[in-house]
Amino acid sequence: MIAKAKEVKATKQGMLDNVMRQFNNAADIIDLNSNIRKILEITNNELVVHFPVKMDNGEVEIFTGYRVQHNNALGPYKGGLRYHPTVDIDAARALAMWMTWKTSLAGLPYGGAKGGIQLDPSKYSISELERITRRFTYALGDNIGPELDIPAPDVNTNPQTMAWILDTYMSTKSPSERSKNMHVVTGKPLGAGGSEGRDRATGYGVFLNIKFWALEKKIDLKDKKFIVQGFGNVGYWTAHFLEKEGAKLVAVQDQFGCITNENGIEVETLFEYTKANKGSILGFANTTPIKNKDFFSVDCDICIPAALGNQITEENAPSIKAYLIAEGANGPTDINAEQILLKKGTDIIPDILCNSGGVICSYFEWLQNRNGEIWHLNEVMEKLEKKLEESFRKVIETSKRRAVDMRTAAFIIAIERLELAYVQRGIFP
Ligand code: NAD
Repeated sequence: MIAKAKEVKATKQGMLDNVMRQFNNAADIIDLNSNIRKILEITNNELVVHFPVKMDNGEVEIFTGYRVQHNNALGPYKGGLRYHPTVDIDAARALAMWMTWKTSLAGLPYGGAKGGIQLDPSKYSISELERITRRFTYALGDNIGPELDIPAPDVNTNPQTMAWILDTYMSTKSPSERSKNMHVVTGKPLGAGGSEGRDRATGYGVFLNIKFWALEKKIDLKDKKFIVQGFGNVGYWTAHFLEKEGAKLVAVQDQFGCITNENGIEVETLFEYTKANKGSILGFANTTPIKNKDFFSVDCDICIPAALGNQITEENAPSIKAYLIAEGANGPTDINAEQILLKKGTDIIPDILCNSGGVICSYFEWLQNRNGEIWHLNEVMEKLEKKLEESFRKVIETSKRRAVDMRTAAFIIAIERLELAYVQRGIFP
């Protein structure tokens, strides 16, 4: 019986077109070497796996998983695994490309990859998800590896998912090789080789980028109103740090719906509520439900999309009140919507900068595993802040020097680093 697999219908998100247009726009501005453009336009490797898993009721279901490796000129492939009905080969390609630009911009010794399984995890038990994850890892085989391609959590995957992947991967190695493989995934739980701070790193990075931007614009974040789409790892931690800074959460959207309160929604209480409410924000005390279509037009100063791709579109961009969009999600702003926003004077901190705290901290985890070190939380957070500030300054400086928006500036920095690597090394043979 493969009923569940068939029920899942992927909806194209159009992210591939978006990332290609972002890339081509920056490549045109810097007049990128045409041979290097050819290389960066394509993905190096694309793996599609179909695998059977035994369900709790004894029936077998077939799943489809993806891993796309875009480019590894700067180091091993790096990127998350997503469990969602919208995962398909184009989504994996787009997200893998964004990872290449992100790791390059952050100055990390990594390339870009992404993957996942096309499924709705809410339809499966924990033990089914464990078997699906382990069988997927087995199907990926030696196409991932600690010095080859290092997955991490993304939408609907978490530290537990990474622990299952690590355990499965290690179990397929000979006993003497096992302990050398701890860094095959990052974003692991602390007890399974994870790093202090990885849980909050992406959201903390989004918050820091907003703070750096506010300092640049001489804006005090105290009492500023913000809205968050997605109240998972990235959305929650971003809201947590912004609230600590004195800003006020006034609307939240998740997969179940939207809630609002112009006087403020307490982040920690909402987080506790969702844990007891099957992950949903709906029904939270002192909030009013609003329609999904009205979310982005809620009156606020800062808008943080932290869910899926292409959420800010030509349809809703004109009604956005925020003067800053901080992209926690990958590819949340459609390229046409971006033009509307830029014309209105809205600033956008682009995903490849804004949410790069996650992969930077993953790099710290990878380094610790590789070198047999364990760093304290303060050390991790300080290093993360330093790296993010460096990236932010570079983007602002390039954006001023070239008179371009922040996304174009970020792409230019990322592409130029890759271009240099190819120019210096040449093309084999
Ligand atoms: P998550 O699974 O922890 O949370 C996802 C959230 O989005 C949930 O609250 C879910 O209810 C909500 N959501 C799902 N579908 C939605 C919809 N159609 N409308 C509104 N909300 C919806 O995922 P996450 O790890 O927080 O990732 C969120 C985004 O951030 C993704 O785009 C991911 O690629 C990006 N990102 C994550 C990390 C990381 O370290 N986890 C790093 C960089 C970028």
